[in-house]
Amino acid sequence: MAPVETFDYELLLERAKKKLPTTLESHDRFQVPEADVMIEGKTTVIRNFGDIVDALRREPAHLLGYLLRELGTAGSMEGRRVVFKGKVAVAQVADRIKNYVDEYVLCSECSRPDTKIVKDGRILILVCETCGAHRPVHVKKQVKAKEAKEIEAGETYDMMIEDVGKKGDGIARKGNFIVYVPGTAKGSQVKVKIEKVSGTVAFGVRVS
Ligand SMILES: [Zn+2]
Repeated sequence: MAPVETFDYELLLERAKKKLPTTLESHDRFQVPEADVMIEGKTTVIRNFGDIVDALRREPAHLLGYLLRELGTAGSMEGRRVVFKGKVAVAQVADRIKNYVDEYVLCSECSRPDTKIVKDGRILILVCETCGAHRPVHVKKQVKAKEAKEIEAGETYDMMIEDVGKKGDGIARKGNFIVYVPGTAKGSQVKVKIEKVSGTVAFGVRVS
């Protein structure tokens, strides 16, 4: 009878859940440590800067450079802290760190932070170690969503090969997309049929 089976099933499910490692859940939610910002005299200090870059797995100097640019202030690292000249609003610091995470850390496909930045020619690409997606950095998610139709699989476009990647494939650009086209030379003008689009990276073949 059905009720008996249901009961057994629930029991099994319950037992299975208990056996799951607890780290699985906490691992799923990615959290950047909240910036611990203090005004000290005429300076503003991020006291846990070291923890933040550790969690993001990015170079401290890279995040610092970004913050200085975005906040329009001077500052430097002192141990695991960052000291800005002048007073900076706490909310502003938190907001810029969030922007940095969106731009340089999170995968735009699966939203996971397990990514690394690799260089291909002059282009910086964010590669996701979880789902394998890649996208050029400096392309924000909102922009990507809005211009997602600039390139569609199955369509053919006239393109200029601007660069050649590490593996010898030609690289063209269209809007926010970069397109890999094997067997093309830098500087050539080609017709490209798009075979696959992954994030804001597309792969095409030369058709003429
Ligand atoms: Zn991903």
